[in-house]
Amino acid sequence: MIIPELQRFLLQNSEHYLIPADVVANVNMDNRLGHAFLVLTKVRYAKIPVLDNESHFIGFISLAMITDKMLALDHVSLEPLDHLKVADVVERPDSDSIISDLVDIEKILHLLVDNPFLPVVDDDGIFVGIITRREYMKSFNELVHNLNKEYDLVPIQQPVSSAMKGPK
Ligand code: AMP
Repeated sequence: MIIPELQRFLLQNSEHYLIPADVVANVNMDNRLGHAFLVLTKVRYAKIPVLDNESHFIGFISLAMITDKMLALDHVSLEPLDHLKVADVVERPDSDSIISDLVDIEKILHLLVDNPFLPVVDDDGIFVGIITRREYMKSFNELVHNLNKEYDLVPIQQPVSSAMKGPK
């Protein structure tokens, strides 16, 4: 369980570490692959969210997923860019990897170990934004610099006998 004082401290910054949907590059699942290719090349992000027409979060698309479809046996084909849609290649994460509660610091920290960013949705599955590892690390940085301005950190007194044994 997360130490409640640390959880409270991190939550003070929750508005800062959410990048809101309106500034997150995304593509629609009905877009042609060529459009997603252009967007990803332009924004220079490795992976971006995929939404449906009602702004529900559907999954992710990356340049690697698109180029994989363009690889023929002995050449690179541009044809899939016109013929396939984003829906044909979208990576759908399981529901455990989607954040619906910004207060769930434990889950967020756990997932950010393996993912550079996490999608955030509301109760109806509408895309709200992303949490990036970078923004979260900024909050963590603040925590390690400022925790002692809000709390007295006092080491727990070890019983003499166990202190003398030293580390195993
Ligand atoms: P960063 O920590 O800023 O390097 O972001 C990590 C990843 O989050 C990026 O590689 C993208 O996949 C995604 N990301 C960050 N910011 C945005 C954004 N504004 N729009 C779309 N994707 C983003």
